Amino acid sequence: MNSHRSPDARGLADTLSARFGQRLRRDEPLAEHTTLRVGGPADLWLTASTLDELVEATVLAWEYQVPVFLLGSGANMLVSDRGIRGLVLQNRCQQVTFLRREDEVSDPPHVIVESGVILPSLAHRLAHQGLSGLEWAVGVPGTIGGAVVNNAGAYGSSMADCLVRAELYSPADRRREWHLVNWFEYGYRSSRLKRLGTARARGNGKHFVVLQAELALSRKSPAEIENQMAAYSARRRATQPPGASVGSMFKNPPGDYAGRLIEEAGLKGTQIGGAQISPVHANFFVNCGEAKAADFAKLIDLARQTVKARFDIELELEIERIGDWGNG
Ligand SMILES: Cc1cc2nc3c(=O)[nH]c(=O)nc-3n(C[C@H](O)[C@H](O)[C@H](O)COP(=O)(O)OP(=O)(O)OC[C@H]3O[C@@H](n4cnc5c(N)ncnc54)[C@H](O)[C@@H]3O)c2cc1C
Repeated sequence: MNSHRSPDARGLADTLSARFGQRLRRDEPLAEHTTLRVGGPADLWLTASTLDELVEATVLAWEYQVPVFLLGSGANMLVSDRGIRGLVLQNRCQQVTFLRREDEVSDPPHVIVESGVILPSLAHRLAHQGLSGLEWAVGVPGTIGGAVVNNAGAYGSSMADCLVRAELYSPADRRREWHLVNWFEYGYRSSRLKRLGTARARGNGKHFVVLQAELALSRKSPAEIENQMAAYSARRRATQPPGASVGSMFKNPPGDYAGRLIEEAGLKGTQIGGAQISPVHANFFVNCGEAKAADFAKLIDLARQTVKARFDIELELEIERIGDWGNG
């Protein structure tokens, strides 16, 4: 197929419909697929449950020159009320393969996980088997793919600490390729992939799909791992609000905490429309029920401007603003 054709969303829809039948949906409301519970429709929506499907749908979108967006659990994004143009691919590829090792003393246990595996479920599954390394992930909603992109982490650990390598697919090159952890250039909630995504939004980037990841673990007793996870969960319950959110809205600036700055700026509990800066934790913005994405966008701007004016500190979003924001 000609890869230099003009965008053809109808052609893509027809081809995906012929291939996937009723699994292809149109105008799917994204508020149902994001933890913040906001977001307008995806023009086209497909759930991929195998890596072959993930690759196939990505290639088709690429060939028809239609934008494709990879969605994990939607736990780190604010999707616009206008939604997302093009194809949204929900990733539910969930195979887990344990690699057998001859000598676990010099060679720790490894596991290969597909990118749609849910992080806290994996942490529990590993704990049952006495495999340590993902305890921090117990309260971090999302998929392995999202965690590889964001360098998700908590309590001083992150993906960068257990990732050995990850397999990426590039529709431009039609290539599947494994990259060692150093390739990802991890920092605090940042990675080469996240930066490439930002570049793509400006129109000059390269598109990658995370297919699977190899993690290195260590052996401990299941009870010890589960106790640690229970302690982390209790800490979250004591400090973080329940309800619909994206976790931390902003990254902590060097040497300080975004939540402290927003609270000191007097914004804790501030509400715009249905979006509120949580009275429990000022870096958590929660949906009180009927919030629009635009309410959150206004609240983000207010927090940034107030903190800048009060402390001369620029707060950087930890989450991504996704979709069609028009001129806003
Ligand atoms: C209550 C709550 C608590 C949280 N606590 C934490 C925390 O302690 N630490 C932390 O780090 N985060 C935290 N988060 C944020 C969130 O859990 C993480 O950012 C998580 O890694 C997001 O994963 P996801 O699958 O939902 O990614 P999504 O939000 O679906 O996607 C995020 C980005 O990754 C891209 N992406 C996803 N999958 C792929 C793929 N397979 N290939 C290519 N690109 C992909 C998406 O296109 C998007 O750009 C919290 C969120 C909530 C709601």
